[in-house]
Order: sequence, then C-alpha cells, then structure tokens
Amino acid sequence: MELWYTEKQTKSFGITAKIKQTLVTEQTAYQQLEMLETEEFGNMLTLDGMVMTTEKDEFVYHEMVAHVPLFTHPCPKRILVVGGGDGGVIREVVKHPEVEKVTLVEIDGRVIEHSKKHLPTIAAAFTHPKVEVIVGDGFMHIAESRDAYDVIMVDSTEPVGPAVKLFEKGFYEGLSRALKEDGLFIAQTDNPWFKADLIRQVFSDVNEIFPITRLYTANVPTYPSGLWTFTMGSKAYDPLEVTAERFHEIETKYYTERLHKAAFVLPKFVEALTKK
Ligand code: SAM
Repeated sequence: MELWYTEKQTKSFGITAKIKQTLVTEQTAYQQLEMLETEEFGNMLTLDGMVMTTEKDEFVYHEMVAHVPLFTHPCPKRILVVGGGDGGVIREVVKHPEVEKVTLVEIDGRVIEHSKKHLPTIAAAFTHPKVEVIVGDGFMHIAESRDAYDVIMVDSTEPVGPAVKLFEKGFYEGLSRALKEDGLFIAQTDNPWFKADLIRQVFSDVNEIFPITRLYTANVPTYPSGLWTFTMGSKAYDPLEVTAERFHEIETKYYTERLHKAAFVLPKFVEALTKK
C-alpha cells in the first residue's frame, strides 16, 4: 500500500509527498512531532502537520536565514536563534569566523533530540564550541534580554501554538530592546500566496519599530507555495548597501553574494505587501 503525507495549506489545497516509512510520531509537551522518510526529499520533520524541514531542500531556508543578516551586519559577534531546534541555522552561523557565540533558544527539547538522530547533516553543530543551547521559551528570553545581541534570527514555526506570540508587535519591540544599538533581526514570515495578511501586518509592525525594514524571498519547494518570505528589521545597516569588501568565501549551495541583494527584488504582488 502506498503512503502519502499531505500538508493542507488551505481548506482546499495541499502539498503531498510519498512516504517510505514513519520514523517517529510523538505528541510532545508543545506539538505533534513526526519524522517521515520520504521518497523525494529524504527525512522530513513535521510539527502539527506542517513541514519544518527536509534533508533535500533544507539548505535554502537555513542559508537564507543565516547569511543574509550575517553579511549585512559588519561585525556580528553575538547571535541569538529563536526556535531552530533542527540545528540548520546554527550550522550556517558558525561558518562565520567573526561570530563569537551563538545562543539557540528552542522551546521543545524533543525537536532537538529527534533532529540529532534523524537529521544528522542538519543538526551538525550542536556540539560546536561557540554554540549555547537553551531549552526554553524564546519569547521570555527576548523579554529578559537587553542590549545583548548583534543579530537575532527567528526560526519559528508558523503562528500556531507556542509561536503565536512570536508574530506579535510586542515581540518585535522586545527584539529591538534585546538587540545592541546597531543590531538587526530577521524572522521567517511565511508565504505570500496564502498568508499575505500576516506578511503585511508583520512588515507594518516592524516598520514602526525599526528604521530599516526589508522583505526578501527564497524558493523552498516543500513549504506552502514554494515562495517563502523573511522580514528584516535593522537599526543601522541596510542589506541593500552591503559593499563587496564585506563578503568572504563561505561554503553554500543557495546563497551567493549576488543573490544577497537579488533576494530583495520582489514580485509586484509581494512588494505590495510592504506598502501601506
Ligand atoms: N523552518 C521552519 C519553518 O519555517 O517552518 C521552522 C523550523 S522549526 C525547527 C521551528 C521551531 O520553533 C520548532 O522546533 C518549535 O518548537 C520552535 N518554537 C516555536 N515556538 C517557540 C517559542 N516560543 N520559543 C522557542 N522556540 C519555539
């Protein structure tokens, strides 16, 4: 019998992958976690029925979450990742020699444990000496942090369950306080086909708090619609004004120096979400 996994993106549309086997199915304290071996995309982590990452296309998302902000900031030393329990973002962050310490605050320790076992190429940096792992609520960590980070990356689930408050204006105000005076953050902000209102709202909220607000995209085939957005709020540095000297060689499969700026060139219907 053939087994297929479907993530319903709307009431009448979804994305489907053929499954070889189910490796894990567990109700954690926070969410329904599944690890599936798919035929096309390798092992796939889902939370509450939503695809979080797969072995085959994870590099797109993780590189674009990490390298765009890290090459925008001229000297990123202290980094915070909120969420990110699969480890893909910290794996990319530690490729930057200027980074002195990266703290990961993931609410669900089970995501970390299962990723280490079933997604070893993604969860490859948990033992890196620059990495600190805190199992806890990223919202609380932000609320308690002042002037602490150069760059914050919000690698959260979509706004359901424990991630709902990570998409509220109060959280972005907290990010501003947690960042140093020239700090910047990026957050994954879902897709413009089915979540246009969310992107518009987040962009508008961030724009009221940060002097520089930018939206960029990447193509992630296993995420709803394939077109994914990231919102950046920055106190001082504009990702579009990064000069050639700032870039250094880094091992990537998606991110390039040219793509750094090209990713901010938006299709018209997406650009419209950044206007009042
Ligand atoms: N790349 C994925 C995407 O865009 O769908 C998300 C990756 S997944 C590792 C996101 C993680 O955020 C989950 O492991 C989840 O447990 C975590 N998370 C959700 N709410 C959180 C919170 N309030 N504090 C810390 N981590 C949180």
